[in-house]
Amino acid sequence: MAQDADCLFCKIAAGTIPSTKVYEDDTVYAFKDINPVSEVHVLVIPKDHYPNAAAVAKADPTLIAHIIEVAQKIADEQSDGAFHLLFNTGEAAGQTVFHCHAHVLGGKADAAKVA
Ligand code: 5GP
Ligand code: ZN
Repeated sequence: MAQDADCLFCKIAAGTIPSTKVYEDDTVYAFKDINPVSEVHVLVIPKDHYPNAAAVAKADPTLIAHIIEVAQKIADEQSDGAFHLLFNTGEAAGQTVFHCHAHVLGGKADAAKVA
């Protein structure tokens, strides 16, 4: 799978739409969420276009594992290593951008805490 010309996160991964980069390698790109809900709120995306996390897992299990490794690295660097990893999947679950993205949520004021 490659890029989708109409996709916001494909454009962010390609650098044609600006973002605050946190991490990048050959297959993934990580950047600060524009509307953070916790002290650390970073999105980790595959550079190739997949509509959601399950599609990545099916097509390329190594890539989804790598996204999780990168999430841990970011949490280690930006906080105390503890984090929530959230993949909203489907409109009814709050997904608004249909390019797979892992929300890495850590630090203070973490609104994602589930009781
Ligand atoms: P979703 O609701 O699809 O799980 O998450 C999409 C996330 O992308 C939201 O948290 C939203 O704040 C973030 N977002 C949407 N547009 C942009 C953008 O142009 N730049 C950045 N950095 N984040 C964005
Ligand atoms: Zn895309």
